Amino acid sequence: MRPEILFPFFASLDTLPGIGKKTALLCEKLCGSTVADLLFHMPTGFIDRRLKTTIAKAPETGVVTLEVVTDRHIPAPTRKSPYRVICHDDTGTIQIVFFHAFGNYPAQALPIGEKRFISGKVERYGAGKQQIQMTHPDYIVSETELEKIPEIESVYPLTAGLSGKILNKAIRTAISKMPALPDWQDPAMTRRENWPDFQTALKTVHAPENENDLQKTASAKQRLAYDELLANQLALALVRRRMRKASGRQIKGNGKIRKAVLDALPFLLTGAQIRVIKEINADMDAPMRMLRLVQGDVGSGKTMVALMAMLNAVEAGFQAALMAPTDILANQHFATTSKLAAAGGVRTVLLTGRDKGKKRQEILDQIASGQAQIIIGTHALFSEDVTFKDLALTVVDEQHKFGVHQRLSLSEKGKSADMLVMTATPIPRTLALTYYGDMESSQIDELPPGRKPIATRVLPSSRLDEVAAALKRTLSDHNQVYWVCPLVEESEKIDLAAAEERFEYLNRLFPNRVGLVHGKMKGNEKDAVMQRFAAGELDILVATTVIEVGVDVPNATVMVIEHAERFGLAQLHQLRGRIGRGEKASTCLLMYADPLSQTAKARLTAMRETQDGFKIAEEDLTLRGAGEVLGTKQSGQPDFKIADLATDQNLLKMACNDAKYIMNIDAELSSERGKALRLLLYLFGKDEAVKTLKAG
Ligand code: ADP
Ligand code: MG
Repeated sequence: MRPEILFPFFASLDTLPGIGKKTALLCEKLCGSTVADLLFHMPTGFIDRRLKTTIAKAPETGVVTLEVVTDRHIPAPTRKSPYRVICHDDTGTIQIVFFHAFGNYPAQALPIGEKRFISGKVERYGAGKQQIQMTHPDYIVSETELEKIPEIESVYPLTAGLSGKILNKAIRTAISKMPALPDWQDPAMTRRENWPDFQTALKTVHAPENENDLQKTASAKQRLAYDELLANQLALALVRRRMRKASGRQIKGNGKIRKAVLDALPFLLTGAQIRVIKEINADMDAPMRMLRLVQGDVGSGKTMVALMAMLNAVEAGFQAALMAPTDILANQHFATTSKLAAAGGVRTVLLTGRDKGKKRQEILDQIASGQAQIIIGTHALFSEDVTFKDLALTVVDEQHKFGVHQRLSLSEKGKSADMLVMTATPIPRTLALTYYGDMESSQIDELPPGRKPIATRVLPSSRLDEVAAALKRTLSDHNQVYWVCPLVEESEKIDLAAAEERFEYLNRLFPNRVGLVHGKMKGNEKDAVMQRFAAGELDILVATTVIEVGVDVPNATVMVIEHAERFGLAQLHQLRGRIGRGEKASTCLLMYADPLSQTAKARLTAMRETQDGFKIAEEDLTLRGAGEVLGTKQSGQPDFKIADLATDQNLLKMACNDAKYIMNIDAELSSERGKALRLLLYLFGKDEAVKTLKAG
């Protein structure tokens, strides 16, 4: 339960005086539903209204505050033209312009013959820039209301319907209602870094007065970024401790099944795979609970590593589960794994959200009885009615799509089950730290032998016909092709239509050899098409990004990506990783539509120049910031509101060490500082982490 002192931070926005339901809803859309969300909505600039001047002295353009008297009104002659008001001061006249003025607002706001203070952006025009006008003044007030015009006003990211003025007011009110909190940071550190306390920091960041205040390095910002990062690191450390506390059990199979499976493999494991498997076996054999991250670039063969770990558990008489982020991937893992496992006489089942009724019940029974030894599935494995006979190992694939909470709930299905986390996207150290904390990790830093480098070319979309024609040869050599047409959320319908059109177009060129999968299709329809492609019944697979993670069809050697400029680097890398998996040379064609932004250009160049996932990930982090590195918004992604991983790496390292130190001396967070740290965790929404602690 959240402590009472924090209630004001978690009150809904319409409890703030002067904030109605409508504004509250708009704010919610923008940043979240609580006062804390509003306080963590950072300004990106400011408007300085301190320049109180005269009409004659007003600059050519810029924000000024003027004292004027209204002379006359020129109502809009047509609906499209503006309503004008002519005003003057001792030095000249100014036109005030209103488009689509509401009712008789201009007449009321600027009564003829009366004095008003107006503040807004002026513009000079005409010969010698003699004429001056102000369109939609931000403020029009009488002398008695002059203090309503703030000297400096923060500029925030906004949403349609919400004005900066209202948001400023809401945030000012929120700040004034903020209770004082005990400081959770180490006083020695705040002194050394010259950081203000939390309340002062919030007040300061919301009232920037100059460019320096807006910099990431401003001390108030640094303080808040550090608060956020420490909350993240501490939460991860707590969750990890909870997972480990239930001491694990020793799992050591006799190796028989693994030998049978390895003998059936058409290839030998790579040195990196063997090394990582050894590291995992050592963890499983130890009495402590395993919590290990396996990182490996696309195509490095993580699935085999997972399978070996699962078979170890099965040999020892337990069950093992593998969780994938999408149905397609779960299906694919099931297809490869069940066949291989069967070579060792092991029974594998698949459970996804698609299984309903009697079929589902049958699978559940097999899981509960232990008949099913390896269980593959999606988040459906979390469902309450899934009971394992004795789950000893959980493998989570493509981990970044799951949240900490989900991770925790699956591990709780087994008696202190070991956990292996596999990431497909190479993650820069910084990001790995924010997702997993200081977790043990293994790297599969070697690709299976015989992989040919992928030739990557960047082409304008005008050369589409050429590309399509060139596919003829590719197909006659019995190669297969992925053709990706991206969907972006805002224009999903249009994009989907484009993908369908592309399908028609290719289907005309290559009748009956083309399949289409997209996110709006039903699961089993998607599977059917994927299956046909995997079986070689289709040569070209036109897809939205549903093929992004994990899909494995080694015979596919060409990847065409339309609108490549819309993708993040990591996504492009993931997509490209679908090819170059077999013996044959592969080609990736990145097609772009103009205009190409600077970043997009840099991304495409990086793709052309390197195939090293780690380099690409680092590059992506600098180019686009953390949110984008792991693809579009996914659940479970740490969503930093204040910290910026591209620039705050030092703070992150400090927070990581600090969290470690805190766990060493006060793991239950029961000291004075510990209690304050609990507040910090709640403030940043880490309730799950506090739940791992004793009440106190
Ligand atoms: P990822 O790490 O991207 O999940 P996968 O596990 O899907 O990679 O493996 C990619 C492909 O490489 C699969 O077709 C798999 O069968 C194959 N593979 C895995 N290990 C080896 C190996 N040691 N030698 C040759 N091919 C391998
Ligand atoms: Mg994989």
